[in-house]
Amino acid sequence: MPITQTKEELWEKVLSHMAGKVGESSFELWFKPMKVVQIKEKNVVFEIPNRFFREWIEDNYPTILPETIEMVTGQQMGVKFRITDKEDEALKKIDTRLENRRTKLASRGIYLNPKYTFASFVVGPSNQFAHAAAKRVAENPGTSYNPLFLYGGVGLGKTHLMNAIGNIIVDNNPNVVVHYVSAEQFVNEVVTAIRHDRMGELKDKYRNADVLLIDDIQFIAGKTSSQEEFFHTFNALYGKQKQIVMSSDRAPIDISDVTDRMRSRFGMGLIADIQAPEVETKIAILYNKAEAERMKLPEEVAYFIASRVKSNIRELEGCLIKIGAHASLAGVPVDLTLAKTVLKDLIADEDKPINVESIQKAVCDFFGLKLHDLKAKRRTREISNARQIAMYLSKQLTNLSLSEIGALFGGKDHATVIYACKQVEERRQRDETLNKTIENIIKRLKH
Ligand code: ADP
Ligand code: MG
Repeated sequence: MPITQTKEELWEKVLSHMAGKVGESSFELWFKPMKVVQIKEKNVVFEIPNRFFREWIEDNYPTILPETIEMVTGQQMGVKFRITDKEDEALKKIDTRLENRRTKLASRGIYLNPKYTFASFVVGPSNQFAHAAAKRVAENPGTSYNPLFLYGGVGLGKTHLMNAIGNIIVDNNPNVVVHYVSAEQFVNEVVTAIRHDRMGELKDKYRNADVLLIDDIQFIAGKTSSQEEFFHTFNALYGKQKQIVMSSDRAPIDISDVTDRMRSRFGMGLIADIQAPEVETKIAILYNKAEAERMKLPEEVAYFIASRVKSNIRELEGCLIKIGAHASLAGVPVDLTLAKTVLKDLIADEDKPINVESIQKAVCDFFGLKLHDLKAKRRTREISNARQIAMYLSKQLTNLSLSEIGALFGGKDHATVIYACKQVEERRQRDETLNKTIENIIKRLKH
């Protein structure tokens, strides 16, 4: 069925659907300037000012465009970017090469990100051990550390390392069957298979893999059928000395709601953690990234960014890309003044006090609600969602007790606050958009 909207109508609808999901400043900076220039076959072609836009969107909201387009049109469409700036030919070549590799692997059912390699991974004390283990596994799959269990906080390089392992294995073994999958996707596949009576196919697929890379395994917690299926897949692969790599945002012992037999398997091989990067590692990562983007990065700017972004490397790179985009739009070089202006709304101010009131205000601003909505009894979905997030953040970011927090939300009891915190915590494990929303609100709180 062809899409009936004009390009402009489509984009307007997509934008209005995205507005609530993306923080306001990101929305203004990255999404507003984009234009739909063509709807062709199964693709929507966007025009963007420079390559930083594509980079930023792919790193921060990789699925938001296709998902929103599908929501608006009811059809699955691909997304393509056209860049208005004159492009660096060498960079363009690299992009094309990566894109071709991605397509080629995908045609074999291998969904690795070709960008994530060992060559592009900066090693420092914080990730040295995980890196060494990953490299060893990549070179001798199934023999040295099986399974490998990588864990560490958000944005510290787990997904990067897992893809790097997959990329090497694919290069070294022409016909190897590699499955890289997020646990969330695995759960979805199990759900679909159960519904359509296709468990047999799913079992065949995963139990015949040579290498299984399963990302964010903590997501499987509490999902009984998926856990069961994964447990048997694990045993089948392990028995045949096929390599298994798992990642998680926490150590096996801290993953609640998995069976003991499952948890014990997480630790049967090697467990390696990734710590928050030291300032030197952060700077090295920034230089690397700048070089890859052909950006001239003065030392003081690198220090400035590294000192302001605590640990999340995605955020670190995001800052650099944001500065790059501004410099490129304005046709000026990157310097400290520009960096400070560009990042002023992004960077945390340590001294600003955070209390329930400021949290409520930030949440209301974000969702476009009135303060009294949060405290009232009214319960539209939107309001109760915002209220739960505000309660959750109050618990996380202040020292108040549950009852004290409840009282500040129009006299709710402590059970309501506990329930809200549990809900949000659980949703955060599977809902990337919610995670972004919360990160965005925290950012607003801190400036
Ligand atoms: P995680 O899966 O742990 O949340 P990712 O692997 O997605 O984190 O990493 C977030 C971003 O930071 C990615 O763009 C990744 O390439 C980059 N990154 C993380 N660690 C490093 C590193 N040591 N060197 C270079 N880039 C890194
Ligand atoms: Mg990840």
